[in-house]
Amino acid sequence: MAQFSHTKISCYVQCPRKYQFRYVERIEPPSRSIELHLGNVVHLALQKLYADLQNAAPMSESELLQFYDAQWSASFTSAIRIVRARTTERDYFDSGRQMISAYYRRFHPFNQSATIGLEMRLLFPLAELDTFEAKVDRISQSGENDYEIHDYKTSRRVPSPSQIQSDTQLALYEVALRHRWPDAKQVSLVWHYLAHGKEVRDKRTGRQLETILQRTRQLSRNIEEARSFPTRTTPLCDWCEYRSICPAVRS
Ligand code: SF4
Repeated sequence: MAQFSHTKISCYVQCPRKYQFRYVERIEPPSRSIELHLGNVVHLALQKLYADLQNAAPMSESELLQFYDAQWSASFTSAIRIVRARTTERDYFDSGRQMISAYYRRFHPFNQSATIGLEMRLLFPLAELDTFEAKVDRISQSGENDYEIHDYKTSRRVPSPSQIQSDTQLALYEVALRHRWPDAKQVSLVWHYLAHGKEVRDKRTGRQLETILQRTRQLSRNIEEARSFPTRTTPLCDWCEYRSICPAVRS
């Protein structure tokens, strides 16, 4: 019996050796990219914003930024690597603050839809004994049986429409949501490209979900049957947290 997630499967697709380090040998990553740190802290801040909203009035923008500042400092360690030339910790720190401010100003008072889950874990059976786990940034309802799956992105790039169309992450999250709430009618997939203040919305048909599900089942079978985990070097190796111990690129 195995449990899969989009992160786990993507890791294998990107590089089987990285998958082995992380999920087979369970080696603690020797380093972490600052992009990952930035993403984690921004996610924590937006989670806090909506969690407070469920219990009381929203935090002010400055309170939310103070929360972000404190989280950044508390979790910043010497193991965090900056790969891009001519960029500093301050650049990343400031970019996260700008993302939060822009989001806050755009969506305040945050009543576009009713939040029903934050960092919510949803499971569905993938194959006989295997399950798929989705961890959704935010789930909201815009009508009685209409749901929205929100995903926060801190990357510099906004994907093209065709890349959005072929995205599998939120489609799999939709499968998980429909498993949890079989009454769901409309499900909107919502990507927030925070560095650009851009919101992208899309929907999937039942047939598209089935195709993605079949492909995911096949990938999970490939992973379970894998007996070797070769290195796959790409430009992404510069950001790999196992770079210092990887035989292909050790540095
Ligand atoms: S550095 Fe590259 S080849 Fe090595 S494990 Fe990481 S992604 Fe794979």
